[in-house]
Amino acid sequence: MAANNLQMFQYIKRDTRDFINIDPLQTAGLLTDAARDALLEWGDGYSVCDYCNGALDLVKKPPIQEFVHKALPEFLGTDAARVMNGARESKFAVMHTLASAAADKNNYVVMDAWAHYSSKVAAERAGLEIVQTEKPEKEIMPEDFQKAIEAGIEKYGKKPLLTLLTYPDGNYGNLADVKKIADISHEFEIPVLLNGAYAVGRMPVSAKEFGVDYIVGSGHKSMSACGPVGVLGVNGEEAAEQLFRKSAYNKVKEVELLGCTSRGAPIMTLMASFPEVVKRTQPENWEKEVENARLFIKRLEDEAPDKFKLFGQNPHNHDLMFFEAPGFFNISEKAKRGRYFLYDELKERKIHGIKVGLTKNFKISTYGLGAEKTNFVADSFIDILKKYDEI
Ligand SMILES: *Cc1c(COP(=O)(O)O)cnc(C)c1O
Repeated sequence: MAANNLQMFQYIKRDTRDFINIDPLQTAGLLTDAARDALLEWGDGYSVCDYCNGALDLVKKPPIQEFVHKALPEFLGTDAARVMNGARESKFAVMHTLASAAADKNNYVVMDAWAHYSSKVAAERAGLEIVQTEKPEKEIMPEDFQKAIEAGIEKYGKKPLLTLLTYPDGNYGNLADVKKIADISHEFEIPVLLNGAYAVGRMPVSAKEFGVDYIVGSGHKSMSACGPVGVLGVNGEEAAEQLFRKSAYNKVKEVELLGCTSRGAPIMTLMASFPEVVKRTQPENWEKEVENARLFIKRLEDEAPDKFKLFGQNPHNHDLMFFEAPGFFNISEKAKRGRYFLYDELKERKIHGIKVGLTKNFKISTYGLGAEKTNFVADSFIDILKKYDEI
């Protein structure tokens, strides 16, 4: 292959970098200054391996061991933890471990109705079938899990290998009663995995307090890391030994981690942002985030009633919000650029995060925005409605 004409791949400017970001995928994944420095410092391939003796989690310099074996399990409320390549890789590791240890095939997992696609493909890849709770009218209740577990037992003639709860779900930002769901699952002696992709790093969570056996988080979604990177915590000595079992061929390599997971810049940015992440997940700081989300909802409800409808729990308990916006939808039917008008209008105001072409339904997040920027986004929504004579 000739080396000329490949410059187009070399430096790609990102035009939304300085924008106010309201994309739920991105708001809590923005790098801290410390992480931005770490990204440059540790960006070279295999940069963290200078002092590795074969086990990444035991590297003392940089202090990965201190992070993985002390700080992270304390943060997650677990007995043991590892840094993984993402939330999905963490879920797969748990499911594959349980599937491999099962006496027979034909096993399954019970998941909430809003389970993320990555939970499903993790199960599929681990050779597990899936039973989901019924789609609820409003939010997922503990009884829904009771029913799904019973339906699974009826269908398969045995209990599931795992119960999985998405906390919060990635559609509406609802927080289900995790303690009760864990209790129900444990009554059947089924371990529970909490998918905290939108929780770990944003809000206070403790696997021990919740009574869950496994917890997973996403570094690039909610822990201000460049990623791909995720975290996996486990409670119980036996479960930890099983999950982090060592290779028969190499005594230090953990099979489920394929010997080594996140290395280089992803894990270093995760660690660099960790002090800030611990700070922002203190209850009093999380409460401010919830207040801010509620402020945003209230402004829209007060100033443009009938033009915005929040789905999910209201009062809302998370920064991830799902709106129906009939006002924006009406505009899209008459605007010159059709359904692209909203994206254009927001871009002009340097606001990024509603998917191109969406007007009728969309998700947004106010995480980390503070009152001033949140008000600016609310002002902008109202101004756009006024500009097109919707209010
Ligand atoms: C984003 C997301 C994931 C995937 O996280 P990765 O770290 O990218 O694997 C999983 N579950 C939910 C609910 C999510 O929103």
